[in-house]
Amino acid sequence: MFSYRHAFHAGNHADVLKHTTLLAILRHMVQKDTAFTVFDTHAGAGLYRLDGDYAQTSGEANVGYLRLIEKIAAGAPTPSLALQDYLDMVASFNTAGQHKVYPGSPFIIQRLLRERDKLKLFEIHPTDAKTLSANIAQLEVGRQVAVLREDGFEGIKKFLPPPSRRALVLCDPSYEIKSDYERVAEMVADALVRFATGTYAIWYPIIPRPEAHQLPSKLKTLATKAGKPWLHATLTVKSSKLTTNDAGDVVRPGLPASGMFVINPPHTLKSSLKEALKQASQALAQGQHNAFEVESGG
Ligand code: SAM
Repeated sequence: MFSYRHAFHAGNHADVLKHTTLLAILRHMVQKDTAFTVFDTHAGAGLYRLDGDYAQTSGEANVGYLRLIEKIAAGAPTPSLALQDYLDMVASFNTAGQHKVYPGSPFIIQRLLRERDKLKLFEIHPTDAKTLSANIAQLEVGRQVAVLREDGFEGIKKFLPPPSRRALVLCDPSYEIKSDYERVAEMVADALVRFATGTYAIWYPIIPRPEAHQLPSKLKTLATKAGKPWLHATLTVKSSKLTTNDAGDVVRPGLPASGMFVINPPHTLKSSLKEALKQASQALAQGQHNAFEVESGG
């Protein structure tokens, strides 16, 4: 039923947006002493090879994270603090100068946890859940990190509100089934009733599909109705138009852009992302259609 494997996409431009945002949120959260819990409703396998078959087949990291470090090594741009933080985080999983491993959200989050913080990872794909459990076991962090092989949309309900009353929920579905868009909105609506002060970070693809187009508006409405502030960041690297190749075949552009919608964002997030995404959109541009936007409200 589930054919999506994040190993094909690890380190692509969507991961650059998502993981830069995730890290910036977490950096802000660790500034307060009170313990928090992070929920990753769609965790993936945790660690990926950039030199392995999956990444090589798709080539997505080559025009994502790997292109970013190439451009920066060549002197342009000088990364902003948030972008540098993201690059340093990925580099810390690799031997100096090598770029073979790409950390998924579970490993980026785990690096930021203090002893008192907790991480709950949901992953429903049997193979990825097994790989994730094995990867997490190697950290030897005991009960601090839990891997739950269950539906993240449903599973999160029993944990909200968390005892510490501080939490971040990262919701990063593959959207391979159309109903994922609706389920995201339902999950956020339910979560805001259970735990209105949590921070919710939702990734979504910007593709010509009504459900994808409507999702950020729905999330904005939910945040506004709950009286909570929100931030919406998008990163575009290429045109969404269909093209034709030399043989005259129609070529689909692949994912041209994606967005992160954050409810109850840290007040520092907007300025951090503005700088970081401006640089990322320039470095990752494929043609003239690169763009970024960071808006906020509430
Ligand atoms: N968050 C990860 C990261 O940033 O490294 C990537 C996650 S990937 C985009 C989405 C994952 O969600 C896939 O591994 C897929 O198997 C899993 N998945 C799909 N539907 C799910 C569900 N209902 N509950 C939990 N996991 C699900």
